[in-house]
Amino acid sequence: MTQEKVLRATRLSGVKGMNDLLPADGPFWHALERHLAGWLDSYGYVGMRTPVLEQTTLFRRGIGEVTDIVEKEMFSFTDRLNGDELTMRPEFTAGIVRAAVEHNLLYNGPQRVYSIGPVFRHERPQRGRYRQFHQVDVEALGFAGPDVDAELIIMARRLWNDLGLKEVRLELNTLGSPAERQAHRAALITHFERHAAVLDEDARRRLHSNPLRILDSKNPAMQEIVEAAPRLDAYLGAESRAHFDGLQSLLADAGVEYRINPRLVRGLDYYNLTVFEWITSELGSQGTICGGGRYDGLIELFGGKPAPAIGFAIGMERLVELARRSADLESRARCDVYVAHAAQDAAKAARLAFRAAEALRDCGIDVVTHCGGGSFKSQMKKADASGAELAVLIGDDEASAGEVSVKPLRREAGQERIAIDKLAERVIALLPSILPSTTP
Ligand code: ATP
Ligand code: MG
Repeated sequence: MTQEKVLRATRLSGVKGMNDLLPADGPFWHALERHLAGWLDSYGYVGMRTPVLEQTTLFRRGIGEVTDIVEKEMFSFTDRLNGDELTMRPEFTAGIVRAAVEHNLLYNGPQRVYSIGPVFRHERPQRGRYRQFHQVDVEALGFAGPDVDAELIIMARRLWNDLGLKEVRLELNTLGSPAERQAHRAALITHFERHAAVLDEDARRRLHSNPLRILDSKNPAMQEIVEAAPRLDAYLGAESRAHFDGLQSLLADAGVEYRINPRLVRGLDYYNLTVFEWITSELGSQGTICGGGRYDGLIELFGGKPAPAIGFAIGMERLVELARRSADLESRARCDVYVAHAAQDAAKAARLAFRAAEALRDCGIDVVTHCGGGSFKSQMKKADASGAELAVLIGDDEASAGEVSVKPLRREAGQERIAIDKLAERVIALLPSILPSTTP
């Protein structure tokens, strides 16, 4: 067989760990994305988009060499056309900060920005953990906090509330300043060196490069020495304490509940001061739906004028799985009207169908026009499955009169004949609650 024939005969499949979003799930994602856009608007965050591909050095420098992401999770490759070293973004922050510096975005003051899109990590695929997944990424660039730290947390809580998610809890920690972390780091190294015999391979490798990450270890054999390790709070200075206190009093005032978790360090190098995660117990072991923190040194590290910043990222797949159980977002995603047409003079009926549908769309009504022929009976099944409130019908009588009939699909009611130029008005009268212009 020639290569081409082999290719044609083999059924191709998608890349492992990368999901197709199929029509059964599309409406919920779409409705959720619309909800997210409104939620982001309501806090003054504006959208920006950066490319999926960035120079590999951006992530190595930004996220840090000795992190899970850079060590083993990046989709990196050499562009064979010009030798560039490129990486599919494993997160948004580095790219957004790169763009902010490159385009001098902070020249006119701080910026609240967000991005929604795919990110890529080469992990072992399992429920809630994919190789291509999606994040809602929110960043407050140029804000020193702690006011904006509180805003971001309160904002996330509003989203969980809006979506009816009850079992999401907040874990909070402070990582202090780089100098405080340095002093703590030295103390950690001394501590773990004293217990070198108990350290596993990962921990030994990280001992001198990233001892903080040893605190994150899930190895049961190491829990005792991890528990006994020196804690960062002993090294915090007045400024870091004031920042953390300021954040906590704003959270308390807003009635946000949280637990301080001194072991929460987050897997990326660029964080300082505030770090937090929102965790649910309803998704099994992949329960973190949102993680974030402050990264006051990153803008300068990327060559910008020093400026503080903080942000968080929500995992969309995990959010969808949770929100689907409680949020009723889909009703607005369905079409309003299904146009069915079947007549002796099929061409005439089709022309009427298209005219009717376009007239309705002129008035902001969502319409699916039946395509592909078939009996009225089979078309009405499709109309029912579409979720439409109303059907517009064109049979022999309507076609010869140049009119249409309207029939409610979700309640007992007869159909009524109407001229096409009166159709939109009548449909609006029958559908008052679902048209945006008439919604209070
Ligand atoms: P985890 O501890 O689950 O590996 P992380 O700390 O690596 O998470 P972040 O870098 O903080 O995750 O990413 C923000 C959010 O993106 C996470 O809270 C999670 O909801 C989601 N997320 C992270 N990795 C994946 C993945 N492989 N598949 C799906 N969602 C993910
Ligand atoms: Mg991870």
